[in-house]
Amino acid sequence: MRYDVAVIGAGPAGSFAAEKLSSFGYKTLIIDCKKKKVCAGILTSQYARRYGINEVFVERELKGVRISFHDITAEITYRRAIEYSINRESYDSYNLGKAISAGCELKKDLVLSVDEKDSFVDIRTKKEHILSGYVVIASGVSELSSSFGGAKKYAFCVQQRIDQKPEDYFEMELQGCGYSWVAPKKNHVLKGTSSTTGYPDIPGEKGLIPLEPARKTFSKRALLAGDAAGFVSPFEGEGIYYARRSGELAAQVLSGAISGENSLGIYEKSWKKEFDFSILKKLSMLLSNDIIKEAFVREIRDNEKFNKLVEAILTKEKKVQIKDLSLII
Ligand SMILES: Cc1cc2nc3c(=O)[nH]c(=O)nc-3n(C[C@H](O)[C@H](O)[C@H](O)COP(=O)(O)OP(=O)(O)OC[C@H]3O[C@@H](n4cnc5c(N)ncnc54)[C@H](O)[C@@H]3O)c2cc1C
Repeated sequence: MRYDVAVIGAGPAGSFAAEKLSSFGYKTLIIDCKKKKVCAGILTSQYARRYGINEVFVERELKGVRISFHDITAEITYRRAIEYSINRESYDSYNLGKAISAGCELKKDLVLSVDEKDSFVDIRTKKEHILSGYVVIASGVSELSSSFGGAKKYAFCVQQRIDQKPEDYFEMELQGCGYSWVAPKKNHVLKGTSSTTGYPDIPGEKGLIPLEPARKTFSKRALLAGDAAGFVSPFEGEGIYYARRSGELAAQVLSGAISGENSLGIYEKSWKKEFDFSILKKLSMLLSNDIIKEAFVREIRDNEKFNKLVEAILTKEKKVQIKDLSLII
């Protein structure tokens, strides 16, 4: 066998899985076809608190968020936690560099199919066949992830670069069946719009955000991580944190499987213990109603207690609970 584990995809899910596996001493390969990535590049305070931030990829520190609906705008200025706007390309290459430094081998190639046998995995790429003991499918939203039963429901996004003066706030405008955003970068902004019913008819680059986890995130010799598994907060589209964390969890579970301590099945238990998307899904479903949207933004603007509650939810200092949702109904 050439590799203990092959990781497909060098986004945050794949790079952090590969870095951890290599640091455990496993012969690890990461394969990436360098697909163009569309992302607003906001790292939340949940991410910053757990992992810290490296100035190599930071473009701007954020002071807060502006949320609007029609002509009502509410501003939340964070008290402690700060979010960061990053350069997504630098972030990805920094993380991949760390995986390679930890001993992981890199192949720039397109994976066409993955065939799980009893005792190994046969990975067919554009250039060759690769044999590996296990595989991590971290190929984001892609045909390969779908063929492995990955995420099925998506938000359709279009985003473009606008050369306008950036401010230190992430702006979010709630709309019919989605929202628009302005993400400030160093010297420009990224403006995007999402919809659950199809790509908005506006110019820009297209991307998909998974809306719910895949039904099954493990099989005999494979684990799905990050977007491939549908791990994105359905409320504000945060996926980078969940990609990194699920990559790490996948590496731990695989390490246990290789040493015969556990089966791959415990992967689902471990991510379910940490990621609770159901309450965030309820919140985003509530906000699909225009009357509730207006009440929500008005409350944030006029009610200090509610403003602080939303701040705590957005900065993940507070876990959302059902009773919190009743405040806006
Ligand atoms: C418009 C938009 C804005 C977003 N903004 C934010 C944000 O501000 N903050 C946030 O936290 N999240 C955001 N997200 C979500 C975030 O981008 C993803 O959740 C995150 O990138 C998932 O990481 P990943 O490692 O799972 O997959 P990805 O980062 O998508 O990486 C997958 C990798 O797999 C490779 N690949 C794919 N198929 C193959 C194949 N067949 N063979 C070999 N390689 C392959 C690709 O080249 C790619 O490098 C946004 C998403 C969109 C669409």
